[in-house]
Amino acid sequence: MKQTAELTGSARFIELEERYGAHNYHPLDVVIAKAEGAWVWDVEGKRYMDFLAAYSAVNQGHCHPRLIKVMREQAERVTLTSRAFRNDQLGPFCEELTSLTGFHRVLPMNTGAEAVETAIKAARKWSYTVKGIPADEAEILVFDGNFHGRTTTIVGFSSEEEYRYGFGPFTPGFRLLPFGDADAVEAAMHDRVAAVLVEPIQGEAGIVIPPQGFLRRLREITADHNALLVVDEIQSGLGRTGKLFAYEHEGIHPDIVIIGKALSGGMYPVSAILADDEVMGVFNPGDHGSTYGGNPLGAAVAREAMKVLVEEDMVQKSADNGAYFLEKLQAVASNHVKEIRGLGLWIAIELNDQAGGARRFCEALQEEGLLCKETHSTVIRVAPPLTIGREEIDWAVERIAKVLTTL
Ligand SMILES: *Cc1c(COP(=O)(O)O)cnc(C)c1O
Repeated sequence: MKQTAELTGSARFIELEERYGAHNYHPLDVVIAKAEGAWVWDVEGKRYMDFLAAYSAVNQGHCHPRLIKVMREQAERVTLTSRAFRNDQLGPFCEELTSLTGFHRVLPMNTGAEAVETAIKAARKWSYTVKGIPADEAEILVFDGNFHGRTTTIVGFSSEEEYRYGFGPFTPGFRLLPFGDADAVEAAMHDRVAAVLVEPIQGEAGIVIPPQGFLRRLREITADHNALLVVDEIQSGLGRTGKLFAYEHEGIHPDIVIIGKALSGGMYPVSAILADDEVMGVFNPGDHGSTYGGNPLGAAVAREAMKVLVEEDMVQKSADNGAYFLEKLQAVASNHVKEIRGLGLWIAIELNDQAGGARRFCEALQEEGLLCKETHSTVIRVAPPLTIGREEIDWAVERIAKVLTTL
């Protein structure tokens, strides 16, 4: 192997990362040095369309000028106060987020996994202090194929062996049920169930869309059994599916909504849970927190990221352009394809088992200037920034069609 110093360009950065970084990812070998909107450029200056959008964290498009401006201005004023003191961004952030979403209150954190942990703590504490479940006996129902993050508690209730292996012992109090099966949830209900935790559409599992009416049934079942419905909208929320939240497709109001990723438009980690007074009221000073949670830099950027989403009509664009994109893709005839499904700008191209895996298609698409990431071994996920236009979609469809029909 060549010495790192002799390597140049992308090869050098890849080598440095491989040699000095932990190997907890298997990225495509593209080294991005610059980005704008739906486009990124590698170290050599080759341009690609970004079809992952950082797992939907850059719904607003890369390096949105309004977000950069706010980030810069806020960074020059004050970035971190901790919650030991107050700052002039957190209050307006909470007010604006509640008026956008219709919930009473916000609890800000940083990463998605932290917000999921926060929701678990809220649900458990509610179940002991409001519902009256005996101490330490609360159960939370979760689903096969779930992805809620990477902390030890969260991977403990994953159904993916790869996420769990070697990380036990795990936190008890979770039970896995088949995704999309409301009858199984009904049957699993008992008086010590605190909550049902669900992704409206399972992103990491391969953009798995449950049967219509599933969330509505979960809402009814949890209400009937005095349990909370906790919806993880970290990836599905903030416009990805053509609604602000994916649960709106079923017209329900959950008890807790978990958001992250696009909440800050890819600038900075900002996550939160949303809930009404009865649930959020379980938190008292001292029982939960985070040094960076609710910091003025993150809050200022998230305020602007929400405004950009609304003022640039990105949610409706996601619905319209997503339908257009899906129709164009479904018209591509390829015997590698098992199914193409999606909602908004969240589309899965599921390949046949004989297609030889999604990875080689993603590598071929990379050659064509399109960056996709396979999810599991047979699904190509299409999730561009919501700013993508019809011409860009046509450009992409041409290339996807070429790869699907020639590989
Ligand atoms: C990404 C994601 C998470 C975890 O978010 P992190 O910021 O990576 O911790 C949780 N739930 C869902 C549905 C996600 O897509």
